[in-house]
Amino acid sequence: MQKKTIILILFIFINSIFMSLEQVTANLNGEKSTFKHIVFVTYDGARKFWVDTLMNNGTLPNLAALRDEGEEITLRITDHTPGTDPGLATIESGYGPDVTGINSNYFGSSIELKRSIPEGLTTTERIKAVYGDSWKTALVMPWTQDFVNVTSTADSTFWNQREETDYWFSSENVTWSQSIQNSSNYALSYGNALLRANSTATKVAEFILDNKDNNFYVRTHFTEPDWAGHPNTETSPQYIQALVECDEALGIIIDAVKDAGIYDDTVILVSTDHGFKGIQHGPPTYPFGISDITETWFISNDQEVTNELGWGLQNDISPTCLGLAGIDSSSFQPLYNVTSMALPLWEANSNNREVTPPSISNVSYSENVYEGEKFTITMNIQDQSGINTAQIRYKYGTIYQTQNLIKEDETSYRGVLDLSTFVEGVEVSWYLRTADDSPSLNTAYYPEDITPLVFTIKAGVTAEVNLPLITDVEYSGEVYAGEVFDVSVKVQDESGISSVEIYYSSDSVWNNKTLIRSSNGIYQGNIGPFNSGTEIKWYLKATDNSANYNVAFHPSDKEPLIIIVKDEAVEGFSAELIAVGGGLAGIIIIVIVYRRRSA
Ligand SMILES: [Zn+2]
Repeated sequence: MQKKTIILILFIFINSIFMSLEQVTANLNGEKSTFKHIVFVTYDGARKFWVDTLMNNGTLPNLAALRDEGEEITLRITDHTPGTDPGLATIESGYGPDVTGINSNYFGSSIELKRSIPEGLTTTERIKAVYGDSWKTALVMPWTQDFVNVTSTADSTFWNQREETDYWFSSENVTWSQSIQNSSNYALSYGNALLRANSTATKVAEFILDNKDNNFYVRTHFTEPDWAGHPNTETSPQYIQALVECDEALGIIIDAVKDAGIYDDTVILVSTDHGFKGIQHGPPTYPFGISDITETWFISNDQEVTNELGWGLQNDISPTCLGLAGIDSSSFQPLYNVTSMALPLWEANSNNREVTPPSISNVSYSENVYEGEKFTITMNIQDQSGINTAQIRYKYGTIYQTQNLIKEDETSYRGVLDLSTFVEGVEVSWYLRTADDSPSLNTAYYPEDITPLVFTIKAGVTAEVNLPLITDVEYSGEVYAGEVFDVSVKVQDESGISSVEIYYSSDSVWNNKTLIRSSNGIYQGNIGPFNSGTEIKWYLKATDNSANYNVAFHPSDKEPLIIIVKDEAVEGFSAELIAVGGGLAGIIIIVIVYRRRSA
């Protein structure tokens, strides 16, 4: 190798180190490089699995090229039905249905029901509010946007941004006639008058070439995958072909950006409104829905559109687009940090987005389950942002069923499966699923790897006969008027605990109250307050979870314990003080008597 070549390589090497350092520094300082042009394309109902698979095997070369140059990040659909209208509303505003009012599809509905993103909230309107006419905006949609249906598939999601949209193209701009060859060619389906991806992309390309000297945000949507998936499934050749058509259309747009000579100043973003599974998509949302539907993809040719978490929320897209245009969305009303917690994707990290899953501890459940019994499971679940959902998932056939756990106090939860209809030999698989109450809906499972636990129902005749074991009984030694009587007790049983109760009476009537399990099998509760002088009789009753419902008492002979409620304690005037005071009085009297005698 010649000296010159070595020096040149060394120079390139050093130079590249400095360049990457510069980029890292920019990120660390929270500075994000911005662009003069934003092109944002969504595919309707493009399942992440297929998008990734087909990029990797060379079937979607245009999208793969963007990803290889930039980034792909996973997005969670957490706060709205995975559907087209709510998806596009969230994508374009950063807000969920609590703000947009859009949580289902309004295709083909009556005009009264059609809903639009509220005035002023879309990326387009935000850009216009900040930059005015120095940024051009375009909306190129495959179906009509008009409130008045010209077809059966009108949509009005973007209707309120029409004044802020410089170039508005959708199928209402097209004259449709079966006899006009072009309109048939451009239509995905004449009956629905949806524009094919390639004709939609051609309109986007025209806008880009016409506006290459302007800053711009152009928004478009291709409908083919959803249209092919519903009748044919997302595993069909038609669905794959639909994704290929989207990729070809994306190619038309990328070519236009390159032909216009503005590729270096243009960020190209591609995503989907929701995933797909089989022939459908829909609720529930992440993390409870099918991940093929609730976890989507976001691809850009900008390497900075990512974060250390490796995921974002679908709500993050609008603040991300605005950030790419150099707009800080953090003070926009309604504040994102009190609604969807949306952020530019590169700003989302573990400091400003809760990412810690709930912790599950002290899980205890029946080891042996007999015919006719209930299966009880208790545990503690904690999270800094609270618990959104805690469930037991179980199956005795092929389909998992879900039952919500009962919250007993701040951290303890109980699940009870009534297996009374089950017979000996039935195998039941189960696991626990819980999500925190943060916008990320962080999820935890027990067992952690979601490998289900299994029990087999045993013959009822062998149900256990052992009584629950009651230990560590603790209670208030004295009770004053106006105060409660506290009791705590540890109860254990091989078949689990069905209930622990305190029975008490201050006259001839017996009352009972369930004690709440807190942790490690400790049950706590209180009764009262009572009036001074009341005589309270009480005992504890613990019932196990076996078919026999074995019962144990404390005291074990069920002979009640007695407490007598005392007068309210007099504050600051204790027995000790009375003794000291009395002593002083005595000394004074002695001194006086002594003085009189000696006088
Ligand atoms: Zn859709």
